[in-house]
Amino acid sequence: MNKSELQQQDREHLLHPFTDFHELGEQGTRVITGAEGVYITDIDGHKMLDGMSGLWCCNLGYSRREISDAIYEQLNTLPFYNSFFQCTTVPSIELADALAAVAPAHMNNVFFTGSGSEANDTNLRIIRRYWDLMERPEKRIVISRKNAYHGSTIGGASLGGMSGMHKQFQALDYIEHIQQPYWFGEGGDMSPEEFGVYAARCLDEKIQELGPENVAAFIAEPIQGAGGVIIPPETYWPEVKKVLDQYGDILLVMDEVIFGFGRTGEWFGADYYGMQPDLMTFAKAVTNGYFPLGGTMVGDRVAEVIKAKGGEFTHGYTYSAHPAACKAGLATINILRNEKIIENVRENTAPYLAKRWAELADHPIVGEARSLGLVGALELVKDKSSRARFDDKCTAGGVCRDLSIKNGLVMRATGDTMIIAPPLILTKEQVDELVEKARRALDDTAKALA
Ligand code: PMP
Repeated sequence: MNKSELQQQDREHLLHPFTDFHELGEQGTRVITGAEGVYITDIDGHKMLDGMSGLWCCNLGYSRREISDAIYEQLNTLPFYNSFFQCTTVPSIELADALAAVAPAHMNNVFFTGSGSEANDTNLRIIRRYWDLMERPEKRIVISRKNAYHGSTIGGASLGGMSGMHKQFQALDYIEHIQQPYWFGEGGDMSPEEFGVYAARCLDEKIQELGPENVAAFIAEPIQGAGGVIIPPETYWPEVKKVLDQYGDILLVMDEVIFGFGRTGEWFGADYYGMQPDLMTFAKAVTNGYFPLGGTMVGDRVAEVIKAKGGEFTHGYTYSAHPAACKAGLATINILRNEKIIENVRENTAPYLAKRWAELADHPIVGEARSLGLVGALELVKDKSSRARFDDKCTAGGVCRDLSIKNGLVMRATGDTMIIAPPLILTKEQVDELVEKARRALDDTAKALA
């Protein structure tokens, strides 16, 4: 089938995630046909540096035979067995053990799922189970943040704080959303440090408003990913810690679906920020995106209660601990460890990207260029001093994304915020290539919008 035939069949039968079906029908899809290292290729043979690691998941790039071989071997040995009814499989035990070894010291248990959304639903179930077993059934409310992303199941989307999503479903009624730590967009006249403290104090305010006796947990991404790579001011997490320590009986859930497995230059965002979450959601990069797998790491204070007390925990998925997925996870963790990928990010690539990415702040349409570890964002503005956007609908981001792809770099647009999360195996030369291509996309965007 040629490209237009494929696009036609796609139009006729495939409903894509987070897509305006009508618009896509008119434009047609980009058909991606191959990938190697940190590059992807489309059906026209157009090669692009993948600045988004697929969908924040292919942290080791696209050419790791160790992972695909591990999956293949497992599929030919024991392609499936479940972990219900007192059964287990060797890969699931091995991966649980490996995860306990790389997670923060107090996290020694894992519940496996097929995705990040399912893992956040699992968190909701564990939180409720924990407080019931603690004989605190009034603790029901979970606090999250506006513009958070926690998945697309009803539980995940209710935890998420994206207004466009909330318009299209009925959210669970025990989730509350507070201020996000987005200084560039919402910090007003405050310094980043002041705003970080302010945003964290909003958590305290909400706890007081709801009554601490009713609050079960607070959930947050270490850095918001899909919301626009929102790196909180340095004061934010220490202040959140203070607030939670002051109460002592509100669980902390860190959603590490994007930041887990090395993206900050530490194994988890919790390590980077020195936080000790009770639950930690993961997915995506745990298998380098090669096989669907997610889960939640459970900290000791929760695990001890749910393991010691009560009867059956009535929750689970057919693909919880799928053996081939677990093998993919093990192969991925082995590569991260043996090749010191995370250390290399921390010591070499991240500082280099930080330096090169910051140079883009001098561009006339860039209001802020921020990065941390191997993520970065550019705020597109018409006027630097007032931070005014090009228009109310934030269409500049889409223009810049399309031009960037045309120039051979996959960047993503969240409104008028351009974001990158390249594979952790990026070399310094590839950082240069990425930054140069991003600059070209900015130049072309400025011309297109002039
Ligand atoms: N949490 C976060 C922080 C995410 O970024 C995502 C996906 N982008 C999810 C949860 C949902 O994961 P999945 O798409 O695997 O359900």
